[in-house]
Amino acid sequence: MSRLLADLGRSELEQQLTTWGYKPVHAARLLRDYYDADGGTFVPRQPLPDGLLERIQSFNTTPVSATAVRQVAADGTTKLLLRLPDSRTVESVLMPDFRDDRAAGCISSQVGCAMGCDFCATTKTGFERNLTTGEIVAQFLALRREARAAQRQLRTIVFMGMGEPLLNLDAVLAAVERIADNRYGALGWRQVTISSVGIIPGIDALTATGLNFHLAVSLHAPDDATRAQLLPVGKRFPIADILAAADRFQASRGRPVTIQYCLLKDVNDSIAQARQLAQLIGERRMHVNLLRYNPTGLSLRGVAYEPSSDETAERFAHELRSAGAVAHFRRSRGPDIDAACGQLRRRNADAS
Ligand code: SF4
Repeated sequence: MSRLLADLGRSELEQQLTTWGYKPVHAARLLRDYYDADGGTFVPRQPLPDGLLERIQSFNTTPVSATAVRQVAADGTTKLLLRLPDSRTVESVLMPDFRDDRAAGCISSQVGCAMGCDFCATTKTGFERNLTTGEIVAQFLALRREARAAQRQLRTIVFMGMGEPLLNLDAVLAAVERIADNRYGALGWRQVTISSVGIIPGIDALTATGLNFHLAVSLHAPDDATRAQLLPVGKRFPIADILAAADRFQASRGRPVTIQYCLLKDVNDSIAQARQLAQLIGERRMHVNLLRYNPTGLSLRGVAYEPSSDETAERFAHELRSAGAVAHFRRSRGPDIDAACGQLRRRNADAS
C-alpha cells in the first residue's frame, strides 16, 4: 500500500531525496507542484533529474482519483466519499456560500468515530482508525478541486466531518499546517476551524500551539444530564470545565470560540434550555451556531431524533439573542442527499 505524497512534510521529503541520492533542494518545488495540482495528475513544472519522477510516483500522488461516490444536492452541496489506500472510505463535503464565487469545506479526521454521540450516523459504524496527515490533506485538495470546477474559491474548512479531531491531534495539526501554509495549501490559518465534542486536554493542547485557527465546541445541551444522554463524553468532561478550557483558548487568541448546538425536537430546544444556554454563555463573547438536524434513523439508544420545527428553532434563537447572546443558524445543506455526517459512508457500506 503506497503512502500518500501529502503524508510527507518538506523535511521528510528532503530526507527521502537524500536517501535516494538526489539533492534535498528539489523537495520544496515538488511539494508546491503537488499542491498546485489539487490532487489531480501531478506533473512537475520543471525538469527533474533522471529517475526522480519515477521515485516520487512510488508514492500515491493522485488521491482525488480515488473518489468512490460523489453526490451533488440541488443546492450545490457536494458530498464526496473518498477511498483511502487501504480501501476504507471517508466523507468530505463542499458547501456553496451565499456568494456564488465562494465555498466552504467540511473534512474528516478519523475513519468512523468512538465518541458515540447518539444522534450521529458516523458513530453507528464505530471507530476504525485515525486518518494520516496525508489523508486529511487529500480531502482538502479534493474539495478545492471540486470548488474550482464549480468556479468557486474554497475559502474555509472545518473539521466537522467524521471523527473527533482532538483524538488524532498530531495528524490534524500537521495537516492544518500544510493546508494553511502559503507555500502549499495556502488557505491561511484563520480559515480553519477545529470542532470538538469537548476533549479538555485536546483543547488545552490546541491553546498551547499558539496557532491561529478557530475553535468550535459542540455542546448540544445546556446541562450535563441532557448532554450526557446525547454525548457520552459529557460524563467525563462537565460543561463548566469545557467552557473554562474554551475560555483559555479564547483568551489566548482574542477571537470568539463557536458553540455548536444542534436543535433536536423536544430534547434540547425548549425556551428554558435556551435561557440556560444564554446563562452559560453569559459575558463570554462566544458565538452560538445553531444547527439543523438531518435525521439518520434510529440512534444507538433506539431514539428516532427529529429536527426542531422552524418555529421552535426561531423561538430558541430569539430567546438567546434577547438574553444578549450572539446566535446564528447554520444553513441546512444538501437535505436531498445523505447530508448527515456518516450517512453516505454507511449507505455505501450497506449497499456493498
Ligand atoms: S458527532 Fe462527531 S464526535 Fe460525535 S460521534 Fe459523530 S463524528 Fe464522532
